Amino acid sequence: ASGGSREYKVVMLGAGGVGKSAMTMQFISHQFPDYHDPTIGDAFKLKCLIDCSMANFNVLNTYGTAEFTAMREQYMRGGEGFIICYSITDRQSFQEAAKFKELIFQVRHTYEIPLVLVGNKIDLEHFRQVSTEEGLSLAQEYNCAFFETSAALRFCIDDAFHGLVREIRKKESMP
Ligand code: GDP
Repeated sequence: ASGGSREYKVVMLGAGGVGKSAMTMQFISHQFPDYHDPTIGDAFKLKCLIDCSMANFNVLNTYGTAEFTAMREQYMRGGEGFIICYSITDRQSFQEAAKFKELIFQVRHTYEIPLVLVGNKIDLEHFRQVSTEEGLSLAQEYNCAFFETSAALRFCIDDAFHGLVREIRKKESMP
């Protein structure tokens, strides 16, 4: 079968508190935990069918940003694709999201890395600080897919993860 047991190494990037763990937990186990230990860096696996072809997800959730430079370099080297997350309720997290393409470039020396941009927490519309248009425009700059999600409501979570696999496959099918 085509794509039999292809593994996709996906890395979650983004400022602390934007919902990377919550998104990962919702995607992997349909749970929205009210507490998690932020000191543990975790890898999760899940198998699912995307466009009639099996995908073995290997999702690495990451913590911290500037303080863990060596660690960041390590997971940026290992990732095949990245989900860059910010919270629509936190402008600073959006500004951080805008820096990741350059950080990835510094490690990989190419801009041709599959990415998906995610604005999470859209259930908190009343607290929105980042407009959909701003997200779209950053995604255009990144040349990647864009989703607004809610990990709390499990809204568009699969779309974001599946979208990244589609980006990886699209890149692989290019000459
Ligand atoms: P991380 O540091 O990026 O891994 O963020 P967490 O997944 O730990 O989430 C940080 C906080 O935001 C937690 O209190 C979560 O319950 C909350 N959270 C995460 N996603 C959402 C969401 O979509 N909506 C709302 N309302 N809260 C969320």
